[in-house]
Parts: sequence; structure tokens; C-alpha cells
Amino acid sequence: MTDSVTVTYLLNSGFLVVGGDFALVFDDFRDVTHAVDKAAKNHPRLYVFASHAHFDHFSPEIAKYADAASRFFLSEDIRSVSSPRNFPSDKTSWLSKYDSFDGDNIKVTSFDSTDEGTSFLVEIEGWRIFHAGDFNWWHWEGDTPENNSFARNGFMKQMKKLDGMMFDIAFFPVDGRLGDSMTWGAREFCRRTDTRALVTMHSVGYPRWRPDEEFFEPGREIPTWSPRESGETMTLRKGGEFKGK
Ligand SMILES: [Zn+2]
Repeated sequence: MTDSVTVTYLLNSGFLVVGGDFALVFDDFRDVTHAVDKAAKNHPRLYVFASHAHFDHFSPEIAKYADAASRFFLSEDIRSVSSPRNFPSDKTSWLSKYDSFDGDNIKVTSFDSTDEGTSFLVEIEGWRIFHAGDFNWWHWEGDTPENNSFARNGFMKQMKKLDGMMFDIAFFPVDGRLGDSMTWGAREFCRRTDTRALVTMHSVGYPRWRPDEEFFEPGREIPTWSPRESGETMTLRKGGEFKGK
């Protein structure tokens, strides 16, 4: 059990989460400040996740952690863009939606995405950590009503699987490109799950986001962090606020 984790923003949806003797790496397609390289040296248990093959979520370069990593958790679609041989078969889990891995003091469950690949629930040392990948309510202004209704339905269908679940920390897109609808997915997600702290992602080049008074239900505000610069770091105690260094 560890009562705090330190989160470092890599880029886009890329994060490093360090707590106790473990380090989790999510969607590391570019690690400007070499945060993951350092963690790979310092942490005996390194777990590397990639939610799908899109270039802004996955880089074949993460195979360089083949020796350091305790395990890779990779979405099945990555097989088609990067040779599976680059990842050691004895410690790589290829995940489709609704797969799970339980062992080695880590439990990982994959959920569906509304784009390619999966999202992840990671349970480790008493923490429940959700990383959405590209799961979101992708409502694009100017798109056809049919497409936007399809996007909404896909999102709501998947939310039913997540209803009421508790997450100590959730990483979820609040993408500036969506304009007025950028918060719809995260807002619904926070209202329907028992998320204790929210980190927003997938908004490179847009201003730092802050929730307005409409975002949370009254009396149910939770700590949020919307990083902008690669290498930004926050520490989170369980049930507490984000604290910068
Ligand atoms: Zn994406």
C-alpha cells in the first residue's frame, strides 16, 4: 500500500505515475524530459501501457524498455503497426476490450474505447487508476447529426459498463478541438463514476483547462489537474488535492 503517487505529464495522453516501488507509464509517444528513462532506472516494477496505435499515443520506441519493464500492456491493434517481436512475449499482455490480467501484484482490466483500442483500469498497491485512452464523447461541431448521434450512443453504451465504479485517479480527455463540447465526456464520466481526482489530457496546444461551476454536481467537486508542459509533476495523496513541487 502506498498513500501517495506522483504523476508526471509526458505529452498528449502520456503520463508517468510513480508510487511505492512501482512506476506506470501510459501512452508514452514522446518523453521530452526523459522522465520515463529515469523511472526505468529507479523503479524495480515498471509497467508500460499503450491504449492504441495512433501516433499520438504509441511509439515503437517504448520497446527500449524491454529489459527494464516488468510487463507491457498493449492494445491488440498495436500488433499491426509494430512488430510483436519487439516486445518480449513472456512479459507482454496484448489486450482487447474487456480483457484482464491479474498477477505480479497488479490487476489490469481493459474497457472499450470510442475510438481505436482500449481504456485501462489498473489496480496496484491499493490504488485504482483509470486511463481512458481515446475513450470520450467525441462530438465534433459541424459533423453530421448522424455521426454525432453515433458518437453519443457509443459513449453512453460504454459508460454503462463504468457506472458507479470508484477510481482514485482518472485520466480523461478534455480536448480543446471539440470547442463547446470538449467537457461533455469528462463531465458525464465524473458524474456517473466515483472518481476521486481527475487529470485531463489530449489537448496539446490549448489553454490549461479549469472546471466551471457547471462541471460538477453541487457538493461533488473533486481535485482536477490539467497539465500543459511536458515534465509538469503533481503529487496526489489518496483522497487529497494535487500538490505541485
Ligand atoms: Zn488520441
